[in-house]
Amino acid sequence: MDTSVHEDQNQDQDQDQHQLTIENILFSGSSHKKCVVCRGEVNTTMITMPKPVRLDLLVLKRMYAPRGVRCCRKYLWNNRLLPDVKINTDNRQTPMAKLEPTVLLNLFNDLLGLLQEASTTSRLDFMNASMSNEDYLTWTGWTKEQFEHMFMLILPHMQSSCNREARNALAMFWIKLKTNLSFRQIGSLFNISGNYENRRKVVSRSFDSIPQALVDKLLPKHLGIGYLSRSEVIDHNT
Ligand SMILES: [Zn+2]
Repeated sequence: MDTSVHEDQNQDQDQDQHQLTIENILFSGSSHKKCVVCRGEVNTTMITMPKPVRLDLLVLKRMYAPRGVRCCRKYLWNNRLLPDVKINTDNRQTPMAKLEPTVLLNLFNDLLGLLQEASTTSRLDFMNASMSNEDYLTWTGWTKEQFEHMFMLILPHMQSSCNREARNALAMFWIKLKTNLSFRQIGSLFNISGNYENRRKVVSRSFDSIPQALVDKLLPKHLGIGYLSRSEVIDHNT
């Protein structure tokens, strides 16, 4: 009697028993030939999904993607998944994610890392991909696109080598002019470390780091719709 088929089946069952099915979590499939998001065939605009993006996919879209899968670059911003991306769920062979305990354990650790990062992150961070157009308008008075354009203009003139620092400095600048919150209050929003005096100094320095030339160019057009002038801010300096 040929028993090899049965043995294979037993082995499969054995493996299945060790895997844990997570309800309500989709499996992206492990194919490297298709984009995880849109299911398009692989092409040169696709990249291997970085770990933070795979974690975003899990947290935001309830979809598990194993290491090595790919997606189109356009769905990423600043190495994170854009939150409003729509996932094409057609033709997914295995809707439920079945995971080996070791994979699950790694995932758990990665998620803990993400939680820790989230708990220490600032309330406002203009490097955060989930900041909406509405958020930009509310805080800075500019749309996301306008802000992006402005940032590209001034970046070469800024001393900060860190993109996050420079971007948030530009945001602080406009927040100050638009809302007239004190430097201390803005420092608290951006979770700047140290005491209030230190926060005030850091925000004040960020404010001063925005080139005067940019202000001269942009501000006159917007005076009269609620912005303070730079000199008014310097007078208050709170
Ligand atoms: Zn795609």
